[in-house]
Amino acid sequence: MPHGPATRARHGRSAAAGLVVIALLAGALGFPPAVTDAEAAKKKKKTTAAKKPAAPVTPVAQTIRSYTGPDATRLVLDLSAPATYRLQPNPDDATFDLVIERPVASPSLAVPHIDDGAVKSITMIDALEGLRLRVHLPAWAAPRVFGLEGETGVAPRIVVDVSRPGQAERDQAERARVASLTASGHRVIVVDPGHGGEAVGAVGPKRTQEKTIALAIARELEKELEKNPGVTVVLTRNGDYDLPLRDRYRVAERYQADAFVSIHMNSARGRNGSGSEVYFLSLASASDEASKSLADLENAADKISAGPAERVDDDLVGILFDLKQTEVLQQSSLLAEAVLTRIEDGRNLPSRGVKQAPFAVLKSPIVPAVLVECAFINNPTEERLLRDPEFQREMAKMIARGVVDYLGKAPPVVRGRTSSMR
Ligand SMILES: [Zn+2]
Repeated sequence: MPHGPATRARHGRSAAAGLVVIALLAGALGFPPAVTDAEAAKKKKKTTAAKKPAAPVTPVAQTIRSYTGPDATRLVLDLSAPATYRLQPNPDDATFDLVIERPVASPSLAVPHIDDGAVKSITMIDALEGLRLRVHLPAWAAPRVFGLEGETGVAPRIVVDVSRPGQAERDQAERARVASLTASGHRVIVVDPGHGGEAVGAVGPKRTQEKTIALAIARELEKELEKNPGVTVVLTRNGDYDLPLRDRYRVAERYQADAFVSIHMNSARGRNGSGSEVYFLSLASASDEASKSLADLENAADKISAGPAERVDDDLVGILFDLKQTEVLQQSSLLAEAVLTRIEDGRNLPSRGVKQAPFAVLKSPIVPAVLVECAFINNPTEERLLRDPEFQREMAKMIARGVVDYLGKAPPVVRGRTSSMR
């Protein structure tokens, strides 16, 4: 892949802040269990009450997944039932243990080979008190841990984020890139492949995942846009990892981008939803009921991306929006119109129009932003199209043409003097 580290957006500055908090907490309280006993007991009561004879549920450790991002590696442990867990740091050995405190069955648990610069390896220890996973690091960094409640049919998950050494150098490299783009006078488009990592997004009948198609189309869009002299693309993610919604538009703000384009696939209750639609932000509510539930669904991704401590601060966004909202929203609506017009020209799929909804990822008060729902991944016909590289290219080409049309009309961003956000 021709995407060096230079095209990678950094993320996880807020995760680093979270780490500090966790480290402080750990110091003060000796690492308390992340789920309190009272909470665990309550949960247990709930699950056992639903079943008839109250056989104690032994959680089964099912899988460990790992996602390598530029700034951190995320480890996810899937359990068949809720369990109490804690982190036990050993800074001197540059290891930490994730301890599940009840007996846990782990017959089929395979420990992945990682060694990606943030995590060296994982050793599984079936200890008396339960399951103990020892994570070996190249250098000590305090990990962050949080749990995710299982949805229906999905096992509860324990998530551990380990930051990659060299954050200062990566920040430095990004500042240098911002400075060189500013000096070049290029138009900068930030392309945001929706979801990623543990947040797979919508899933098609053939198990196609939204995150995969979004990345494929985003990479094509990067190629198409950069065929235009003077246009540079920055991807918010360029791999299978996740980042919080707020961090996505903040990439666009750091670069003072001309536009932000988020790529997603739609999904409807039935399997016959069809076509493409382009959204820009609504500050009030969605333009219709379907758009509202779609925005709810897309925004819910942050439960996984950001973890419990880093939800988007809507009040702050509200205040900032008062300052510039009219102008930026107007530009966003022009961008949405331009993109949809070109998608309509492509005549691949029916057009569902330009719509408005309160998508968290579109909430930048300073960068015009749109979200493209390319097609319905849960419609078998459109799922087949979405998997086809030719269709992905075609979709990217049309979006790129729309963005270029918009750039032709929009005033260039004057960089270097704004902004209160940086
Ligand atoms: Zn999505």
